[in-house]
Amino acid sequence: MLFEEAAKYYERLENTSSRLGMVDILSEMLSHAKPNEIKDLIYLTQGVLAPPFEGLQIGIAEKFAESAIAMSSGYSKEDVVASFRKTGDLGLTSEEFVKKGKLKTLSKRHFESNYVFESMHKIAKTSGTGSQDTKIKILVELLASSSALEARYIIRFALGRLRLGAGDATILEALSKAFTGDRKAKPELENAYNICSDLGKVGEIISEKGMAGISRLKVTLFSPIRPALAERLPTSEQILEKMNGRCAVESKYDGFRVQVHLDRKNNKVAMFSRNLENTTLMFPDIEKAALSEVSAKEAIFEGEALAYDETTGEFRPFQETIQRKRKHGIAMKSTEFPLHLFSFDLMYLDGEDYLSRPYEERRKKLESIIKGNGLIRFSDRIIATTSKQIDKYFEEAVENGLEGIVAKEPNSVYVAGARKFSWIKLKRSYKGELSDTVDLVILGYFLGKGQRAEFGFGGLLTGVYNEKKDVFETLSKIGTGFSEEQMRMFNDTLKKIKVSKKPVRVDAIVSPDFWVEPKYVVTVRADEITKSPMHTCGKEGGKDETGYALRFPRLVSDGIRKDKSPADATTTNEIIEMFGQQKKVRLEG
Ligand code: ATP
Repeated sequence: MLFEEAAKYYERLENTSSRLGMVDILSEMLSHAKPNEIKDLIYLTQGVLAPPFEGLQIGIAEKFAESAIAMSSGYSKEDVVASFRKTGDLGLTSEEFVKKGKLKTLSKRHFESNYVFESMHKIAKTSGTGSQDTKIKILVELLASSSALEARYIIRFALGRLRLGAGDATILEALSKAFTGDRKAKPELENAYNICSDLGKVGEIISEKGMAGISRLKVTLFSPIRPALAERLPTSEQILEKMNGRCAVESKYDGFRVQVHLDRKNNKVAMFSRNLENTTLMFPDIEKAALSEVSAKEAIFEGEALAYDETTGEFRPFQETIQRKRKHGIAMKSTEFPLHLFSFDLMYLDGEDYLSRPYEERRKKLESIIKGNGLIRFSDRIIATTSKQIDKYFEEAVENGLEGIVAKEPNSVYVAGARKFSWIKLKRSYKGELSDTVDLVILGYFLGKGQRAEFGFGGLLTGVYNEKKDVFETLSKIGTGFSEEQMRMFNDTLKKIKVSKKPVRVDAIVSPDFWVEPKYVVTVRADEITKSPMHTCGKEGGKDETGYALRFPRLVSDGIRKDKSPADATTTNEIIEMFGQQKKVRLEG
């Protein structure tokens, strides 16, 4: 597919106002592409060069993009900067300069989308002395022979600001429609995505091998599996009932989730976070331990990493450990409070996929391949058949400084990428407050008034993820409790992802001063969930219907939660469930 054609689809995507409209446009684009173009087209559409776990960033700085626009059009950099000041979008500026370019001698050529993609790869991979010049040269070459519309998307992509707004679910539905005729194959495609975390790969397989290829997809080393997630229930009685009277109860460690991939033959270990970023460099001790404490040729297992003082039996808050490590360099050996990995699940072992084996079998196997007395331990657990046992274990866990418990259904498979009742969490509750925090996506922000005017930031508009509709719905404005440092940080961070109008996948009644691309997640505590006509969370659209909101919301973490992506935010359904549980607890109490 010519990049020019892809750019026309992108322009249509930008102009559509419905999510289903986006699915249609994308599916049309994908069905017009050749099988060997699908993978790169999907990455292009996502605005990435590779699946996020590969961590390949394009990262052209604004000033270099400005130079490239100037050089390819024959104008001065000052002219470009002046235009950028007006448009606020270097993509539009670049479009303008291609239109009025003075260097007419260069002939326009029509390049393939794969060519653009490869050029972007070259830009990302060039490093060392003189690399900036090489990067600019590649960009100039592209711009000099592109059309105005192509230039808009080339520049936005190079800056990492494509922002077409198509989420994973939209792309999966588009793939389903393009290759099977309708959107019904989405769940199977989603399964495939959950075990490889790579939409480009899913697209490549369906376009080359059809649905048969999709159903044959297996877990592979160094392609992270999307993590299983836990549901919530407010009491041990309800947990036990849901688990049919018998369950494993594990301590819930308040650390950092780590998925370890081990390949002994090549002496290679990789680790991935909850949102599948490669975090291997953060845990050099655990990397070594995986090679010396695990007896397997190949394995994928997961656990929670946190600092643990063996002599006192004390767990240290993970934030504290991470800050210390940052201060002293990421690879510092944390000898004082060594990081331990409390492993709790096994997904793959020596060629065998363990995802569909029952929890109890996975756990037993995990215990048979790990020594368990070094840096890699096992999550503590009991098997419970009465709610009293669960309550006692829960209280002990909280007393030991842990977050609570995770109950696990003994016969359940590992449900990659989904929040299911095979795992149920119960966290310590805070008197008079909502028992759990919620993770909300920043959808927009407000300007500061009065004293806050100098920070250019006065508060956040935040929302939840509605999985069924694949949209973000507003839940809360957060206007208090920010430190000056936080206000500065939010202003700096959010102004970079400002968008000119409400994104298609955001459903809102309230309008902030600025909309932003849904990208960042913050953890919020509140007193309770209330009904509200102002917010769209849980509102089905009827005239008198109300949505949900938070009472007295405040940020918990010191800023943005780096280990969560927008689709990992608390969902609309979770809020509705939490609202129901809150009512029950009140009635019972
Ligand atoms: P939270 O913010 O409550 O940790 P979350 O959205 O990150 O929630 P959930 O699936 O809701 O994730 O809760 C399970 C989380 O608890 C896992 O992501 C994991 O990081 C952590 N955890 C700690 N101990 C365990 C354990 N023994 N078994 C499973 N998960 C555990």
